[in-house]
Amino acid sequence: MKNNAPAPGPDDLGLRFDVVDLIGRVGSHRHVEQSVVVGEQRIGNLAMTVPAGESIEVEAELESVVEGIYAGGTVRAHLTGECSRCLDPVEQDVIARIDELFSYPEKVKKDEEDDVVMLSGDEVDLGVLAHDALALEAEDRPLCSPDCMGLCPQCGKHLEEDPDHSHDLIDTRWAALTALLGEDATDEQTGTDAASTGEQAERD
Ligand SMILES: [Zn+2]
Ligand SMILES: [Zn+2]
Repeated sequence: MKNNAPAPGPDDLGLRFDVVDLIGRVGSHRHVEQSVVVGEQRIGNLAMTVPAGESIEVEAELESVVEGIYAGGTVRAHLTGECSRCLDPVEQDVIARIDELFSYPEKVKKDEEDDVVMLSGDEVDLGVLAHDALALEAEDRPLCSPDCMGLCPQCGKHLEEDPDHSHDLIDTRWAALTALLGEDATDEQTGTDAASTGEQAERD
């Protein structure tokens, strides 16, 4: 686990909760719920993101334990992206699990500092957790349907719409080749046959 120190700036989701009432009071807990509207932050992964203007909802139980403040709950979001095969719009509703212990710095041993999330001040920042949880649940290779056939590599048409169509590649290449031969032949003032083959191909 990496050290999720609060990152102020564009990634700050404004999901900080004051836990001063829980610090040092083992066993006490509090339920928190908050909905935040996503701005320019990129929430999700490379393929699926929460569109700006949509909100994500966080719900968690904050519990005071001996080592620190434990936060357990869920984050909900609606993500959008493109089908990785045909580029059609894809939507995904995600409910991701948040599960983190914000350790009291004095309880953390020196060699463990990089592996734990430390409580900073009197607040827990669920924004980074929500961000990471959604990134994990978001589809890496979204599909509009599990059996999406994708696009025709030649003409870009949706293959579902016309699965059996084909392009006569050999003919296209042959036409280009014979056209070239035709040009050469014309340049050299020889080979009327080759030239006429070129014309023939062009008509096809
Ligand atoms: Zn598709
Ligand atoms: Zn095609």
